[in-house]
Amino acid sequence: MRRARPLALALAVGLAWVLLPVRAAADETGEIVSIDKKEFLAHRLERRGLDLLMEKEGRVYAVVSPGELAALFAARVRFTRVTERFFPYDQTGISADGGLNGAYHSTLELETDFRALARDHPQLARVVELGTSLEGRTIYALKISDNVSQDEGEPAVLVLGCHHAREWISVEVPFLFGRYLLENYAADAAVRNLVDRSEVWIVPLVNPDGLEYTIHVYRYWRKNRRLNADGTYGVDINRNYSYAWGYDNIGSSPEPASDVFRGTAPFSEPETDAVRRLALSRDFRAVISYHSFSQVILYPWGYVDAPAPADSELHAMAGTMAGLIAAVRGTVYGYGRAAQALYVTNGDTVDWAYATLGIPAFTIELPPVDVDHGGFFNDEAAIDAIFRENLPALLYLAGYAANSPAPPHARPRDRGARLRLPFRILPGGRIDNGR
Ligand SMILES: [Zn+2]
Repeated sequence: MRRARPLALALAVGLAWVLLPVRAAADETGEIVSIDKKEFLAHRLERRGLDLLMEKEGRVYAVVSPGELAALFAARVRFTRVTERFFPYDQTGISADGGLNGAYHSTLELETDFRALARDHPQLARVVELGTSLEGRTIYALKISDNVSQDEGEPAVLVLGCHHAREWISVEVPFLFGRYLLENYAADAAVRNLVDRSEVWIVPLVNPDGLEYTIHVYRYWRKNRRLNADGTYGVDINRNYSYAWGYDNIGSSPEPASDVFRGTAPFSEPETDAVRRLALSRDFRAVISYHSFSQVILYPWGYVDAPAPADSELHAMAGTMAGLIAAVRGTVYGYGRAAQALYVTNGDTVDWAYATLGIPAFTIELPPVDVDHGGFFNDEAAIDAIFRENLPALLYLAGYAANSPAPPHARPRDRGARLRLPFRILPGGRIDNGR
């Protein structure tokens, strides 16, 4: 089914409010609390599947539901409510661009802009429908390549955004990258070379149902909009990929109410299934999945705090990207193994891509650096600057993909299997791919 017309959708949303007032209200209320790190560990709260925002100055910040708040009280955990400090941050009105989401894309606006890009660059851009969300919205990709309507079997790079609904900036960076390539193809030889030799696949909005929910109902929503068996909503689609899925209950949760609920089975969700089918259908050589916030570049593993095969190469590539970002205007992005950077995560995109496809895979957490600088609420005026500082790193990884040989033939699907990446990093960040 194609996406419903906006009017029909609005009516459906209105009806849902009439029919399900209790559920809607339960979804809507959340609090941000901060807990001393020692207290947090003493109560083993890392096992609760809380929606963790960040760790700062010895305190852990989390978004908690009313039920979780009650559980914290019951367990005599000492915490501080800090919601007012952060919500809404710097988002006091409707912008000149209009609409509830200002300069950020809604699902419809993204589709409209994708179709306009494809119309204006018919040789270079094509809108591809990857699948349909639970609420009937189309999950879109923009394929960018020369002779775009032909299948030339070129090496490809995959750029993903917005697994998590509230991370609005993660839609904009992939979208702007696509637009940049198309608008600079004619004048920029490096862009032309990249586009001619490879396929760039842009999927800025993996979770359209969740995004719409953050626009119209609850800005802090994270998951998709799966109605779970116990009446709660949502699967964390960045815990729903198959590699090391459900490895433990710290990196994801078996509890449907949790904000890191992993779903009932790997790839149970149409959003992850759409990414999986695309990823397996083309010759991808690298992937970036954008999230926000905290300014960090993460590479496998996330599911366990141990080095992945070719760990030093991944580390060097992440370091190169961090250097390219910092060179633009001095913004510092950290980098490291995902499980080391904050907490373990299992069933996420990059562990799966790395283990299954044998290609370098990175999660980039976009600005700001922490909740005090806005958390999920990036100033609209900062969108373009955030894209600009990420552009050289994107071009680097896309260039790597375009020039790399095919990934190793043995694509390990088991945790213990050895993975050998088809490249080495030389001092200074140069890639040696054996040519
Ligand atoms: Zn995220």
